[in-house]
Amino acid sequence: MIKYALQCDRGHGFEAWFRDSTAFDSQAAAGEVICPTCSSTSVRKSVMAPRIGKAKTASSAARRVANGQAADAEGAFEETTAVAKPSPDQVQLRSQLLELRSAIEASCDHVGSAFAAEARKIHYGESAPRGIYGETSRDEAQALADEGIEVAQIPWVPRGDA
Ligand SMILES: [Zn+2]
Repeated sequence: MIKYALQCDRGHGFEAWFRDSTAFDSQAAAGEVICPTCSSTSVRKSVMAPRIGKAKTASSAARRVANGQAADAEGAFEETTAVAKPSPDQVQLRSQLLELRSAIEASCDHVGSAFAAEARKIHYGESAPRGIYGETSRDEAQALADEGIEVAQIPWVPRGDA
C-alpha cells in the first residue's frame, strides 16, 4: 500500500491509500478517485516538497527563538514582530494617556526643565498659582514631595502612530 497526498482541480487537499504506484493512475483515469470535499474526479498528486521544506524551516526557527539564540530565518522575524505588537489593553492605555496629555497641555503652562523651581515659587506664593508641567528628575520630584508640593509623574506618550 502507498499513501498519496492528492489535490482536486478546486484546490482541496486530501490523502488516499493505493495498492501501488500504478493503481492511482488507473483509478484516477477511471474517475474512481474522488475529492471528499467537492466530489470532483479531477484529482492529481499534490506536490509535497515545498510545503514540507517550509514547515521544517519554520519549526527550526521557532526552536532557535525558544532557546534564546539569534535566528535570522524569516519565521523567527515574524515571531518577534508578533510579540512586539501592542495588545488591545496597551492600545487603550495609550489613548487614555494621550487624552491626559492633551488635557494637561490645554490647562497647564509648560515650564520645561524649570519645573521644580517654578513649582516651588507657586507653592511659596512667588508665582501665580496655576497648573504647570515640565521635566524634572526623580530626586527633585521626591524633594518637592518632601516639601509638601504635590507632583504627579505621568507617562508622556509621544504623539503620532505607534
Ligand atoms: Zn475538491
